[in-house]
Amino acid sequence: MMRTAMRSVLLLCIAAHKSATALTPGKVIVVGSHNQDLITSGARIPRPGETVLHDTFSQAFGGKGANQAVQAALLGAETHFVGKVGDDAYGAAALENLRDRGVIIDNVRTTITAPTGVAFVAVGAEDETNSIVVVPGANFELAPDDVDAAIFDGAGVLLCQLEIPQATTLRALEVAAAAGCVSVLNAAPVPPGGVDDALLRAASIVCPNEVELALLAGANEKATAATVAGAVCAAKDLQRRGAKCVLATLGGNGSLLVEGDLAIHVPVVAGVTPVDTTGAGDSFLGAFAAAKSAGLSTLAAVRAASVVAARSVQGRGAQPSYASAADLDLDAL
Ligand code: ATP
Repeated sequence: MMRTAMRSVLLLCIAAHKSATALTPGKVIVVGSHNQDLITSGARIPRPGETVLHDTFSQAFGGKGANQAVQAALLGAETHFVGKVGDDAYGAAALENLRDRGVIIDNVRTTITAPTGVAFVAVGAEDETNSIVVVPGANFELAPDDVDAAIFDGAGVLLCQLEIPQATTLRALEVAAAAGCVSVLNAAPVPPGGVDDALLRAASIVCPNEVELALLAGANEKATAATVAGAVCAAKDLQRRGAKCVLATLGGNGSLLVEGDLAIHVPVVAGVTPVDTTGAGDSFLGAFAAAKSAGLSTLAAVRAASVVAARSVQGRGAQPSYASAADLDLDAL
């Protein structure tokens, strides 16, 4: 049923390209992180050494890898998650959530030597600040040998990020290349020591957001990538570092595809009033992978991803805001 509905998403995008081929998503491998998000909200966040009382507390499933896997699975892709959780309640809940959302978890391992990754998020309502502390825990125990080449058999797309050791991400990219699978490196977050050029070279497509794009290009934070023209320059810097193709998400400015001498800007879906953009990038990439695995061109897959991500910014949180193909109100978009 999900596959049928995804077909309608893809048809919408293809219609914009004056074509009418019906496609279904294929097999997507996600090698990445899972975190349990622990979120408090109050008037303001504490200064160093200070204790403040907050009004609300909530928990959410997060981690870029898990978010992207959930979005791809919701759109009907056969999605395999390769990750690691601790032998604790958060780990058990993570597995149950992934399974419930349709993600195949045969390659998620449990470790007894580290806890499940957690992210402590404090939100200060008065000045709209937040502070986030992440303890990667089990995510940092995901080793290159945990990437089983056998699951890449028949896979269309690999999705990976940088919330696990870079050596493991690199192994996944290499295995994908050997299997003839399109590989998407979401270069997020950019580690303090930077990203090894070997990863940029190994990926079919490198996907940063505007902040990561500027950091990777060696520029000062958002300064150069804040405009589309600036993002094109920064993407060309990444090409000089070895990236074959750069797909940057630019928040409310949409996304930018740079391949060879071509630079194509894809604006956001018009008429959308964002409520919460948390996890929009993960929604975009999960949808991009699902669409690409269906055999769409990279540009058509970007347009499909823009439709799905636009839906995600209209709901609160990351995974709770993600649409399945059946949920998408295509006429409204
Ligand atoms: P996160 O780290 O929270 O996952 P991100 O910074 O990686 O997010 P963004 O660049 O903010 O991701 O957004 C991803 C995509 O979501 C954009 O490329 C765009 O297609 C879509 N999007 C973002 N903001 C809006 C908006 N206001 N209206 C419609 N679509 C949006």
